[in-house]
Amino acid sequence: MQMGFYIDQTRCTGCYTCVVACKDWYDVPPGPAAWMRVITIERGKYPQPFVAYLPSPCYHCSKPACVEACPVNAITNARKTGWW
Ligand code: SF4
Ligand code: SF4
Repeated sequence: MQMGFYIDQTRCTGCYTCVVACKDWYDVPPGPAAWMRVITIERGKYPQPFVAYLPSPCYHCSKPACVEACPVNAITNARKTGWW
């Protein structure tokens, strides 16, 4: 078990691949229940709207499916960054 991931929010596109990977790996049934979440942040208004995504995992897997599934490497196992 570990207690943290490094998250590069600028890379996240909000594709939800990490959410699907976690639910599939742990057989979480269809529906809103999920250990992996992607929070959508909406700011501004026309003509300058702004949308950002914040991946929010549970942080506990030593071999996390959510990290491995991300196509843009927005989430990194904290131990691999060297600061853990
Ligand atoms: S750390 Fe494991 S259980 Fe938690 S969100 Fe990622 S894959 Fe799912
Ligand atoms: S963290 Fe990666 S897999 Fe998850 S929504 Fe963002 S880009 Fe997609």
